[in-house]
Amino acid sequence: MDTKNQQEIPEERLIFDKTYQCYVCEMKFTAKTVRTGKSHLISRDLDMRPRYDIIDSVKYGSIVCPHCGYAVMERYYKPMTKSQIAAIRNGISMKYNRPEDVGPYTYETARARTEIVLLNAITRNAKDSERSYICLHLAWLIRGQIELLEKTGIDPEKRLKLEEEEMTYLKNAAEGFVIARQKEPLPMCGMDENSVDYLVAALLYETGRYDEAAKLVMNVITSRSVKKQLKDKADCLKDLIKEKKAEQ
Ligand SMILES: [Zn+2]
Repeated sequence: MDTKNQQEIPEERLIFDKTYQCYVCEMKFTAKTVRTGKSHLISRDLDMRPRYDIIDSVKYGSIVCPHCGYAVMERYYKPMTKSQIAAIRNGISMKYNRPEDVGPYTYETARARTEIVLLNAITRNAKDSERSYICLHLAWLIRGQIELLEKTGIDPEKRLKLEEEEMTYLKNAAEGFVIARQKEPLPMCGMDENSVDYLVAALLYETGRYDEAAKLVMNVITSRSVKKQLKDKADCLKDLIKEKKAEQ
């Protein structure tokens, strides 16, 4: 199938209802999930945001129980401690009354779902790396939303507002990953040491912290265990940081 035909596939045909059992209220619920093998990764942004050919899978990364407001990124969908469950029951479920989301998810819906995931993570005192991972996904969703709006013409004020919101999430992600890198064991969010260092360097660069970014990217470039693909990305990032520092 050529690319033109693939682009014409409606999004609802690329997703399906995946069933989960809630770790808080124990009821079954579904979340829209991208069918495997339907879309292909084309490239990644500097901060590793994946770009697929026909669907933005980032929109489908959050699982939300419509009965009680338990929400989590799929990677972290696992049993919790009794005190974490109690924290979500008291902090979220008691006042949760959001209607169930219908698919395909818009960027607004995906963002609302991921913001509930972040609220859950804060409520159950999740690790810095998990919170940062969620903030990074929120930044990616806003970037995707801006790109989509650009196709039809985006109001400059709306664009500025979205860019500011994206930057806030990038800053939170950078800050949290810097802390996590110092105190959490590896692998972190499925990444080894070089991948974490590269990602943190990219986030520091994107948020204007060039000196820290320069230091960290050198860790990746000089690492004996770095794979070629990541080393190439790190070399690129190093050049970008150098340009920014020269402008200062
Ligand atoms: Zn539930």
